[in-house]
Amino acid sequence: MNVRAMMTTLLMRTTTIQTTTVGTRKGTMTPSCSSSLRRGGVSFVSSLDSFESSTGNRCRGGGGRRKRRTASSSSRRIPTRRGGGRVVLSFSSTGNENSIETLTMTKPDDWHLHVRDGAKIASVVPHTAKTFDRALIMPNLQPPIRTAEEADTYRKLILDAAKTTNAKFEPHMTLYLTDETSERTVEDAAKSGFVRGFKLYPAGATTNSSFGVTDVKKVMPALRKMAELGLVLQVHGEVTHQSVDIFDREERYIEEVLKPLLEEVKDLRVVMEHITTKNAADFVSNFPESGRLAATITPQHVLLNRNALFKGGMRPHVYCLPILKREEHREAVLNAAVGPKSERFFLGTDSAPHPKGAKESACGCAGVFSAHAALSFYAMAFDSVGKLDKLEAFASHNGADFYRMPRNSGTITLKREEWEVPETYEFGGDVVVPFFAGEKIPWSTL
Ligand SMILES: [Zn+2]
Repeated sequence: MNVRAMMTTLLMRTTTIQTTTVGTRKGTMTPSCSSSLRRGGVSFVSSLDSFESSTGNRCRGGGGRRKRRTASSSSRRIPTRRGGGRVVLSFSSTGNENSIETLTMTKPDDWHLHVRDGAKIASVVPHTAKTFDRALIMPNLQPPIRTAEEADTYRKLILDAAKTTNAKFEPHMTLYLTDETSERTVEDAAKSGFVRGFKLYPAGATTNSSFGVTDVKKVMPALRKMAELGLVLQVHGEVTHQSVDIFDREERYIEEVLKPLLEEVKDLRVVMEHITTKNAADFVSNFPESGRLAATITPQHVLLNRNALFKGGMRPHVYCLPILKREEHREAVLNAAVGPKSERFFLGTDSAPHPKGAKESACGCAGVFSAHAALSFYAMAFDSVGKLDKLEAFASHNGADFYRMPRNSGTITLKREEWEVPETYEFGGDVVVPFFAGEKIPWSTL
């Protein structure tokens, strides 16, 4: 990739930032889907086209306005508010409501985060840095981050954006695996000290994934080198065949790609990113080897099911990829995070901001911005099943252990104290609509 071009882009940022609220602005039609419109997406494994590359892009989805219930009363619902109604959360609660009022825990890590480029970096990084001490930064810029050298440049910009909020914040990096990734590139990554792995996007699966791998066979030498050097493979686990239903793509990926891959490269450690289905939760839980396969889980996939996409109309702010699934899948993913193999699951928000206008358009981008209240969202989900005691391991221990890094040393405290999420946050000269925009949520971080 052209580092100079990337630097030019990245340096177009402002030095100020913040999580301050700004008024909702009218969205403009945006070309931000343009990256997804790039042609050349060849389907993963077989030969089909990149369906998603013409319909959306992100690897995650939607923030949205919806309504939720308070944690202190599972049966209470806040009335639908103005503006065409909110999406009402549909999860059920069997938790020990009010049993825990504050929760002090080891500082957490976000093992799947998008911080964009240009002026947007400075807008979004402080949201994460105020709560987390580390994050694994996704490489799907346009063009993507493909070498340790490029990652170093990007990392320094992120550090700069975080320093006034949290001087201890450490961005860790993953590189974008392409058909051309060489063993030398893998060696350089391993030597860097800050690259933790490579991200495998099937071509066309999500935002800026047109550089993705067209056939896993092409990257076998790189994967073997990663296994040898202890780097981790992060996978976006969806096939992209246009003939496969969008709700079935994760399940198909496990059978068609992930199982053969884990069999073929015996020592490779893999994180199945942002899992959304019972199939994935079961596959990870039941995998016969410990410490080899893990999964990240986003807030939206344990708080919402696919009804949220169509609650009273189309809801672009809860559109994400992988897309929200049926209730039985939401329950299964949440139960896996607190279940007997819970050490294999950890926090990865996949917070993925897009400008408001890029979501509210004829080609709405996929992605949910959740960094502003990430830990609170997970607390809501874990509290809903009475498992707040499992939150610390999920947020602060399991990921560090899997990545073979020390756990963080500081602490953070969650308090059961309601606050209202702003309608928008500033976003590099534009605005982003956050997850639970305009809604009150029951957990605050101190
Ligand atoms: Zn992602």
